[in-house]
Amino acid sequence: MGKHTHKGNCQVCGRLQAVTKKGNIANHGYDVDGFRHMHVGTCQGSQKKPLQEERLYADEQIAYNNYCIDILCPRALANVSSYMPKFYRVKKGGSVFGRVMSDISNYIGMPSWKVQITELSIEDAIGYFRPTITNEDALIERERNIRKREIEDEIKYRKRYNDALQKMIDELYGTPLIPNE
Ligand SMILES: [Zn+2]
Repeated sequence: MGKHTHKGNCQVCGRLQAVTKKGNIANHGYDVDGFRHMHVGTCQGSQKKPLQEERLYADEQIAYNNYCIDILCPRALANVSSYMPKFYRVKKGGSVFGRVMSDISNYIGMPSWKVQITELSIEDAIGYFRPTITNEDALIERERNIRKREIEDEIKYRKRYNDALQKMIDELYGTPLIPNE
């Protein structure tokens, strides 16, 4: 493990990280409170200059979030009213009954010993949600509302993220790196 002498802030997640000999932010994971449309795994700010010295990627991040807020999310919201959900039973591991859901994007590509997915008829899906849901229209309405809320949450999330990142740029860009004790 090479010794680093300074710390700096990541341009993408904002967290304080070790700076490598090359002067870049060391590899680190990304764990901003689990939004599924955001990247997970290695933070995109790894191996880039710290925010103290460069703001290009932070600005790009903000621009991308604004694109989502202004263009992609409103477009998705406009499509919700015609969204026709399909329903699946999702069994994880050894579970007997599983859960019925419409959005299975989190499970795509998982091996079959981990998760088993079966598409359901609309009648079977209604059966699962009884007595709250008793007909197809109500079931479709339920799914559309969930989707709408998810998109609205995404807009809020990206706005919060942008505010926080902009504040960091204003406070940190052009300031010195933090020396190790
Ligand atoms: Zn980061």
